[in-house]
Amino acid sequence: MANETKIAIVTGGSRGLGRSTVLNLARSGVSSVFTYHSNSAEAEKVVALAREEGATAIALPLDTGDVSGFAAFIEAVKAALATLGAERFDYLVNNAGTSHHNAIATTTAEELDGLYNIHFKGVFLLTQALLPLMNDGGRIVNISSGLTRFSFPGSAAYAAMKGAIEVLTRYLARELGERGIAANTVAPGAIATDFSGGMVRDNPEVNRMVADNTALGRAGEPEDIGPMIAALLSPANRWVNGQRIEVSGGMLL
Ligand code: NDP
Repeated sequence: MANETKIAIVTGGSRGLGRSTVLNLARSGVSSVFTYHSNSAEAEKVVALAREEGATAIALPLDTGDVSGFAAFIEAVKAALATLGAERFDYLVNNAGTSHHNAIATTTAEELDGLYNIHFKGVFLLTQALLPLMNDGGRIVNISSGLTRFSFPGSAAYAAMKGAIEVLTRYLARELGERGIAANTVAPGAIATDFSGGMVRDNPEVNRMVADNTALGRAGEPEDIGPMIAALLSPANRWVNGQRIEVSGGMLL
């Protein structure tokens, strides 16, 4: 039987956009099982902050770029769901990711493999592994990037992986519709997080460049994204499916 409290699985929920997503879902009464890669201290902070919002968040370690760990992760998810009194979950947010900056001329095969493992293979196979645990009528949000629409030199490999995720998302929507599951892509503009060594947040020139190229006149903040994802997952947006939704304040329109 479906659990009354909705449950989300959010990868990379310990920092940045994933953290904002977990906390805004908590504000909406949604519990989360979220992942971190190596920084358990930040993950524990999110657990405590979600509790302050009156929701339960459970942190699990996961390297989304290493599929050999997925079987054990699924068992850990089942155990986490059991502590929430559930056997299944409702929302999957594939958010975890790392940055990459290199020109096409100098990008190596190893760099490409690393990006592929985290940004495509991991998302594809983790979604596949989790689908048997997702309730019919569930929702998937995959995080892409504004860089699939506009281009900056040095972002080719990263952006191409994100482009692949946008195509995958449409196919997820197509194939999972029969289970009532909708899938959408959220494509953030440049957001001031730890991403890229905190470049958008901490490098004044980059921050100014982003602001100058954004219709709303500033770089994005995590709180520009998490509430939007929580809203997209709410019943009010139940008919949005197979879409790429850019959330950038109007960057490079
Ligand atoms: P952050 O660097 O702030 O946070 C990254 C999160 O992902 C952390 O929770 C981190 O865990 C986790 N993570 C990193 N590597 C792995 C891995 N191999 N396996 C599992 N988890 C991992 O990034 P953002 O919040 O800024 O980015 C989130 C997503 O948004 C990414 O997919 C990114 O590509 C995308 N994006 C970001 C933009 C931006 O400007 N910030 C713009 C457009 C898209 P831990 O703390 O343990 O390392």
